[in-house]
Amino acid sequence: MKRDAARAAIVGVLALAFYVVADFRREVIAAIVSNDAPPAAGPRLPAGTGAGLGPVPHVRVVLVDGAGLDTAAAMPVWNELCARGLELRLDVGFPTVSLPIQLALWSGHAQQQTGVLFHSGKVVKPPLGAAAIPAQVPGSIAIAESHPYIVHSLGFAETRPPLDKKLPEGWAGRWVDEAAAAVAGPARLAFVHILKIDTAGHKAGKASAAWRTATTDADAILARLVAAAPADSRWFVLSDHDHIAGGGHGGEARAIRIVRACIAGPGVRTGTGGPIHITDLSRAIADSLGATLPADSPGRSLEAAIAAPVDDDDVLPGLPGRRVVVAWALLLAGLAATLWAVWSRPGWQRLAAAPWWWPVAMLSLCLIEMVPSLSTPMIYKPKGLDMAQAFSPGLAVLAVTLMLTARAGWARALVAQLALPIAGTLAVLIACGGLPMVWGERVCPIVPLWSGWLPVVLLMASSAAAVAALVLLATAVLSAFGPSAPPGTRRNEPAAP
Ligand SMILES: [Zn+2]
Repeated sequence: MKRDAARAAIVGVLALAFYVVADFRREVIAAIVSNDAPPAAGPRLPAGTGAGLGPVPHVRVVLVDGAGLDTAAAMPVWNELCARGLELRLDVGFPTVSLPIQLALWSGHAQQQTGVLFHSGKVVKPPLGAAAIPAQVPGSIAIAESHPYIVHSLGFAETRPPLDKKLPEGWAGRWVDEAAAAVAGPARLAFVHILKIDTAGHKAGKASAAWRTATTDADAILARLVAAAPADSRWFVLSDHDHIAGGGHGGEARAIRIVRACIAGPGVRTGTGGPIHITDLSRAIADSLGATLPADSPGRSLEAAIAAPVDDDDVLPGLPGRRVVVAWALLLAGLAATLWAVWSRPGWQRLAAAPWWWPVAMLSLCLIEMVPSLSTPMIYKPKGLDMAQAFSPGLAVLAVTLMLTARAGWARALVAQLALPIAGTLAVLIACGGLPMVWGERVCPIVPLWSGWLPVVLLMASSAAAVAALVLLATAVLSAFGPSAPPGTRRNEPAAP
C-alpha cells in the first residue's frame, strides 16, 4: 500500500513536470531572443602587420541582409564592384543575428563585448553613442528598407524611416529614391540597409522564387546607388549572414557566418582575401572616415587583417571553464544513477533497460526534421509540435521499455530511463548559462552549439515526463485490476494453447 502511495506521488510529480518544464522552455526561448548579456571580453584575433586605409571624402556602406556567398555571387552589380577592389570573406562572429552584427560593425565591439546577442525586434536603448563610428561623422545618414529598429540603434545623425510600429505610407515605393538621394548627397557617411532577401528567406526559404526575385531586385538597387554616388566614394558592400535552406539564421555554422564584404574606390587595391572579422571591417570604415574605435576593439588594420585570416577558434566564444566542469559532473552523476538502476538486472537486460529512448529521440529529430541550431525556426516555436512529432519515435521507445522494465520494480526502471536525460538536460542548461533562470535571474543563455539544443532537450524532458506518468499509471491500474502479467509472458510459463 505504501508503495502504491509512493507511485501515485511520483505520477503526480511527473505530470507536474510535464507542465513546468514546457513552461520553462518557453521562458528560455524568450530569454534567448529578448535578453542581453553582461558585456564580456571580445575575441583575440591573430596578430598581423600591414597598413590601414586612409581617409576619403565620401564613404558609402550597403548591407545586403541575409545574402550568403552563393547569393552574393549571383548579383552581377555586386560582382563588378568587387572586381574593381578588394573581395573579402567576412566572418560576422556569433550569433548570426542582424542587429548584434550591425552593432559590432558600427561600434568595433564584437557581439560578446556589447552584450547584445539577439535582441529581436526592439531598438537598443540607448543607441550606440559617441564612441561608435556614426556619431563621429557629422551629418551621417542611414536609410533602411524596413525593420527600422536596427538602424535606429546605431547612432546616425539622421535615420529613416522613423521608428514607428508601422512603416510610413508609401515607404516601400519611395525608400530606394531616398536611399539614392542620401548616397548622392553631401554626407560623408551614408548607409543603406537592404532587407528584401532576408525577408524572402524567412518567409519562403532560399529555394523560392521570392528569394531569386529579391536577389535580382537587391542587385538593381545596388546599381542605382552606385550610379547615384559621387565618383570619389569608397564603397563597402557586405552581407551580415546567410540563411539555412528552409530559411532562418542565428547559429554558429560557417556556412551562415562567412559572407562577402567588398571594398572598392579611391585608395583601395584590387585582390581577394579573408576571412577578416566584422570588427576588422569596422576598423576599415573608421579609418576611411578619420574616426577612431575604442581601445578594446579587436579590429585590426585592413592589410594586417588580410595577412592573418581568422578561424573558428578566434571568433567563437568558448564556454566558461566552471560551467563545463559542473555540466560534466552532472552528466557523470546521471550516468552513475543509470548504472545503479540497470545493474540489478540479469545479463542482457542491463543493456535493454538503458535510456535508449533519448538518443533515438535526438536521431529521429535530426533525420525527420533537421539538426537543431539557433538557425532552425523549429526550436523557437512555443509548443514545438513539429519537433515533438519528429522525436516521438523516442517517446515510443521510452513507453515500451518502461512498461516492460517496471514489472521488476518501477522505481529503478524510472531512474534507469530518466536519470541520464534529466542530468543531460541540466548539463545543457548549465553550459548555456541558463541555470540562474531557475531562481528567476534574467540571463541570455546564448552560446555556440548548446543553445540550439536547449529548447530541444527541454521539450524532450517535458514530453518524457508525460509519457512516464502515463506508463506508471497504466502499470498501477494493471496490477490493481488485471493479472500481474499477461499469460505467456512470465518466465518459464508456457503460453496457453
Ligand atoms: Zn533575418
